[in-house]
Amino acid sequence: AKESGRNTYRFYSSEMNSKALKQLLLVNDLRKALVRGEFYLDYQPQLDLYEGRITGTEALLRWNHAVFGKISPAEFIPLAEETGQILSIGQWVLAKACQQAREMQLRCNIPLRVSVNLSTKQFQDPNLPAYVQEVLANTGLAAEDLELEITESILMENVEKAQQILHQLKAMGVTLAIDDFGTGYSSLSYLRTFPIDRLKIDRSFVQRITTHHNDAAIINAIIALGHSIGVKLVAEGVEQKGEMISLQENQCDEVQGFYFSKPIDPETLMDKISSQSVF
Ligand code: C2E
Ligand code: CA
Ligand code: CA
Ligand code: CA
Repeated sequence: AKESGRNTYRFYSSEMNSKALKQLLLVNDLRKALVRGEFYLDYQPQLDLYEGRITGTEALLRWNHAVFGKISPAEFIPLAEETGQILSIGQWVLAKACQQAREMQLRCNIPLRVSVNLSTKQFQDPNLPAYVQEVLANTGLAAEDLELEITESILMENVEKAQQILHQLKAMGVTLAIDDFGTGYSSLSYLRTFPIDRLKIDRSFVQRITTHHNDAAIINAIIALGHSIGVKLVAEGVEQKGEMISLQENQCDEVQGFYFSKPIDPETLMDKISSQSVF
């Protein structure tokens, strides 16, 4: 049934459980969500551990559905990816994130990098570089202030193609990050050939850093490895002070997580930026 994809819904409609039914409704509503203005972005700050201040922020897509209310991206992004709707949604995210980041830069008078997540289909879309170029020109955001996050698993799907796309994007001056690092199976020799600026250490390791020696050892090895190939390390999902201290002791460059802030709206982020003190 898996390979028949979307058509599966038709055949098994009589036995459909409520989860499948909801998915069907969501796929249908995804089409209208853009025009109805149901999407918005929240921003989670990234803290530079050396400078002790917010230097970047990750844009995270939110969907306020008319009936279901807030729906997690973990629930609707896979559906949008499967149906191809992710291309138009992804374009909206890129444009909105660059526009809002530029506004925040101007209003707070600070440099601020914005990270945008790319899905598989978006990353493989031949029109992506031209679209990124267009968005940067339209919003006035400097290329280096835009970071594109691509998961380790997407890159490893087709290494040669990924290298080609990454080099094309890098040539435009944008910053590149590997997301969810440590969960895939990167070969270290390939890693060196990707023109990347940052590795984002997956939350699953960070979560266990203070309780499991193995995970702490893996994180420290990733940090050392990253630095040896000239990339910066961002730890995701930092929830506790102990985790931050351990990361700091091991020269992690940046942290992101609920310990510092949940994803928040632009106004709240600007308040945080203006009121932040070096810790
Ligand atoms: P991700 O890219 O790994 O994003 C980080 C996720 O971890 C976010 O979930 C964030 O809210 C959550 N998080 C951050 N700090 C903590 C923490 O300390 N503890 C815990 N437990 N969680 C933390 P969110 O916003 O629900 O997004 C889930 C996923 O949906 C993202 O994972 C990303 O894969 C995808 N996503 C979100 N926005 C977009 C988008 O615009 N485009 C695409 N293609 N995917 C997106
Ligand atoms: Ca991400
Ligand atoms: Ca991640
Ligand atoms: Ca924890």
